[in-house]
Amino acid sequence: MQVGILGGGQLGRMLALAGYPLGLRTELYDPNPDACAGQVAPLVSEPYDAWDALAQFAGGKACVTYEFENVPLETARFVEERVPVRPTPRALEIFQDRLREKQFLNAVGIPTPAFAPIEPTQPDAALQITGLPCVVKTRRFGYDGKGQGVAQTPQEYHTLVQRFQPHPLIAEAFVPFEREVSAIGVRALDGQIAVYPLVENHHAGGILRVSLVNPDDALSQRGAHLTYLTRLLESLDYVGVIALEMFQVGDQLLANEVAPRVHNSGHWTIEGAETSQFENHLRAILGLPLGSVAPRGYCAMVNLIGELPPIDAVLRLPNTHLHLYGKSPRPGRKLGHITLRADTPKERDWLLEQLRQIYPVSRV
Ligand code: AMP
Repeated sequence: MQVGILGGGQLGRMLALAGYPLGLRTELYDPNPDACAGQVAPLVSEPYDAWDALAQFAGGKACVTYEFENVPLETARFVEERVPVRPTPRALEIFQDRLREKQFLNAVGIPTPAFAPIEPTQPDAALQITGLPCVVKTRRFGYDGKGQGVAQTPQEYHTLVQRFQPHPLIAEAFVPFEREVSAIGVRALDGQIAVYPLVENHHAGGILRVSLVNPDDALSQRGAHLTYLTRLLESLDYVGVIALEMFQVGDQLLANEVAPRVHNSGHWTIEGAETSQFENHLRAILGLPLGSVAPRGYCAMVNLIGELPPIDAVLRLPNTHLHLYGKSPRPGRKLGHITLRADTPKERDWLLEQLRQIYPVSRV
């Protein structure tokens, strides 16, 4: 069986790798001929509007999926006319736009921070809804904290609005959160849903640095995230892995963002869960039974950003799993990740301290 993946970054690479033990062949499609997934599986390198190349790419595939949400909607729809595209391109349409995303979340009963579109002719109307401080974001193409800024005063707000215009913008109330968490779940073709334990995420400079997984986390056990993911997945008749990023304020969870794909905060599942997010995504989109999402202990996932640690020293650490994406170092670039897996939180935190001796891991 052959699966097509739109996008050829590290997520495509890890999907392709997860497909091999299942006997799958994957082919990737990315306009960038150096896309790092091309090192592990065949890569078609053509623009996203090269319709003949896309038609050929769709041919012979059991289904096509995508590994980043900025694949043009037109491209996904074009492929969908030829072969099933899972998850549904409708998810792209909604989650590519921060305004539609938040409207959709509220419509299915998932709370978000107060938000409003910023109307170019009346920018102050949005401020009335969000209050200050607030976050100004571009509606589209923002990632890793790009295309956004926090305003404390009306002046700062107007400066940000001017900086980002003419892009369509959204304002959101600034949430004084205690933690950032993400819920990762998967829905099979037959409607079965499985949800991994809640992940605690630590960002710096808008980029995810460290994810922690404590299966006995009180909030995870309370299970609000299960309800939210179930609503999301069922309302879209969604098939595949989805990630919901949220802010924890007291006992409450407020949704920030949805990724209709495998997610960086789920990389720990490769060694830390019975079945990885990558394998479960492939199982789901191919109509196969899902694998167990049970955690295998306490994990930490550390992103390798901009620079690499001394590889020998990493490989000497116990219960430490290195993943490099085959990319050349560049400031701010995700080059790989390391997963630490332990039987107790204490042991996991000790492993993190060992890693800190050789790599600048953010304090969590
Ligand atoms: P995003 O691109 O929406 O995921 O935002 C990147 C990061 O900015 C988040 O992980 C948060 O740390 C922070 N952030 C985004 N929106 C808000 C908000 N409404 N209130 C507080 N912090 C935010």
